[in-house]
Amino acid sequence: MTDQELIERARDAALRAYAPYSAFSVGCAIESVDGEVVTGANMENACYRLGVCAEQSALTAAQHIFGLDKVARIAVAGGDGSGAELSGDVVCTPCGGCRQAILEAAQLSGRDIAILCASGDGSALERHTIGELIPFGFGTVNLLEIK
Ligand SMILES: [Zn+2]
Repeated sequence: MTDQELIERARDAALRAYAPYSAFSVGCAIESVDGEVVTGANMENACYRLGVCAEQSALTAAQHIFGLDKVARIAVAGGDGSGAELSGDVVCTPCGGCRQAILEAAQLSGRDIAILCASGDGSALERHTIGELIPFGFGTVNLLEIK
């Protein structure tokens, strides 16, 4: 799957977001090392702090379908999902909490994970790795050293 195809999967997933409060729809597509793809979207709640990000939604699916240790590449896109297509020209990157969650998958696999961050309309793209997005991260290595 090309980068653009994975981004399109994320953009499509965003259209299934439940975001009545922020009106900001985010989609995430995660590809495994074997080429399987799972998606997720943000799901808000009237109790705001209970909302779930698209990345964590997709990571949950990834764990169930192929395992966090098989995550190879992630695409994220966010914007206005009220139309037939996701729109907006600002690049959407994972929030701090999601960076921490993606780091967990990276540390499990021992691989850095590529993250494609796209605008809602797909016109703007930033390519990062989780190592760039959360340098000096706290993770499994820290806790395993305690045992
Ligand atoms: Zn997040």
